[in-house]
Amino acid sequence: MTAAAASPESAASSESAASPESAASPESARPESLGPRITAELLGRLAARVPVAGRRDQVAITMPATGKILGHVPHGTADDVAAAAETARGAQPRWARMDAADRSKVLLRFAELLLSRQDEVLDLIQLENGKARRHAFEEIIDVAQTSRYYARTAPRYLRPQRRAGALPALTQTWEYHHPKGVVGVISPWNYPLTLGISDALPALAAGNAVIAKPDRQTPYSALWAAGLLAEAGLPPGVLQVVTGPGPELGGPLVEHCDFLMFTGSTRTGRIVAAQAASRLIEYSMELGGKNAILVLADADLRRTVPGAVRAAFSSTGQLCISMERMYVDDSVWDAFVPRFAKAASSLRLGHSLDYKPDMGSLISPAQLDTVTRHVSDAVSKGAELLAGGKPRPDIGPCFYEPTVLTGTSPDMAVYADETFGPVISLYRVSGAEEAIKLANDSCYGLNFSVWTRDTRKGRQIASRLEAGTVNVNEAYAAAWGSVDAPMGGWKDSGVGSRHGEHGILKYTDAQTIAVQHLLPIAPPGRTPPATYAKAMTAAMRALQRLPGRT
Ligand code: NAD
Repeated sequence: MTAAAASPESAASSESAASPESAASPESARPESLGPRITAELLGRLAARVPVAGRRDQVAITMPATGKILGHVPHGTADDVAAAAETARGAQPRWARMDAADRSKVLLRFAELLLSRQDEVLDLIQLENGKARRHAFEEIIDVAQTSRYYARTAPRYLRPQRRAGALPALTQTWEYHHPKGVVGVISPWNYPLTLGISDALPALAAGNAVIAKPDRQTPYSALWAAGLLAEAGLPPGVLQVVTGPGPELGGPLVEHCDFLMFTGSTRTGRIVAAQAASRLIEYSMELGGKNAILVLADADLRRTVPGAVRAAFSSTGQLCISMERMYVDDSVWDAFVPRFAKAASSLRLGHSLDYKPDMGSLISPAQLDTVTRHVSDAVSKGAELLAGGKPRPDIGPCFYEPTVLTGTSPDMAVYADETFGPVISLYRVSGAEEAIKLANDSCYGLNFSVWTRDTRKGRQIASRLEAGTVNVNEAYAAAWGSVDAPMGGWKDSGVGSRHGEHGILKYTDAQTIAVQHLLPIAPPGRTPPATYAKAMTAAMRALQRLPGRT
């Protein structure tokens, strides 16, 4: 069903706030709502991929767009995680001994299979997450691109590198990279395919085994991807997906892995970082944000209006790199703001398994509650609604209109807290300097966006913004899609980064191997130490003059 956001609607029903567990029973799921490709048999096969050491309770997976139950997966336990880790440790050495180029072939086949089977997983993403198909498609492109990138570059990144030796000619030094062993990947529900699998790909390319723990609400996309990797040639046991609640499985996973890749909220990030620190294992964290978009005086509004709509409402605003704050130059405010508000209001909401709807559902009644709370708090304290502002239970239990606010102030939750929904606050600024100052006034620093006709100036401004990625004349896809460059958050938005060289080498232990020829690095023969010290001092001074030496 598709409905324009501007059409009349009723207030949220009390059912719309029901917890996923209390939603309709499996029997009440109408098979036709799953579309022609997703069958009970397929869902059963995916659930059977979960490694469990015995009979387990089942976790019901709810379709956010309808509130009905999609299927069930095992409620994994700490014992299951421990058993998965044992399996992974058994399978990993053989995988690591394979040529990096042969491991890359698996990733290349996976990318090709993904592109050709995309319709099936697009349905799964939509059904378990509720997002519109156009936003689900971003996940296909992202995973295929990441897989190909690391297939192409991993052999080069992993090859032993020559480094300058302690003594020229006499010391030959190499930097080696060895897989860590077992990598744990904890991911959220908002990009269930991308975040469920793409961080595992470089870990696998580097010769690790991976245990992935997707969010409790969205396990199917990661399970589907694990099945496809097996079909592409990944040996059994090298990648396993455990399912169940994060607070129950997260601790045991940190307990059993050698590196943790975590994506999720800053709050949970702090908990798992403390657990990882107590085991002295390394981790990488991609966390929350309160991203800002800057519309400068010379922005091309024909491009900026649709770009800003994408920036705010992609994946129903449940995108870590989407925007919740917009700073608009005073000189274009009157021309820009009504056009932006109108474009937001005319987005079509819906949940069909095709490309018709512009925006889908929120993930859960809890997320709907946060969005509703942030907007009503702002409005009750004096903010003005320029678009949206209401739940849409007439479309589905967790739908909410694309919402544009102005007049928001620091006493409102929406001002500085991450809403993670289709809500953006607009602020009028007197120029680029004020926009930069306000954008940087946040504990977060994930992804910002600058719109200007002068791209040189755009880059200069971008370099003064305190965020791990900044897009000029694009919302988020240009920087994210540049897989060769690092993507990570500053401040409370993360630790470390994904993508590029660091995105694979973080899954390895670096080792320096140095071979000493002819002379020891000590007084040779019977040379008195004082003579040696003098000679070495002279050598140090001479070495400094050689090109490339420090
Ligand atoms: P969350 O932190 O509640 O959950 C994320 C993952 O952590 C899930 O798999 C969950 O099961 C697990 N988890 C929950 N409690 C745990 C615990 N005690 N120990 C171990 N694991 C636990 O996150 P959320 O609120 O569901 O997801 C949205 C958040 O993720 C937003 O803040 C968003 O900005 C952020 N996010 C960041 C990025 C990025 O790349 N920076 C990408 C997507 C989402």
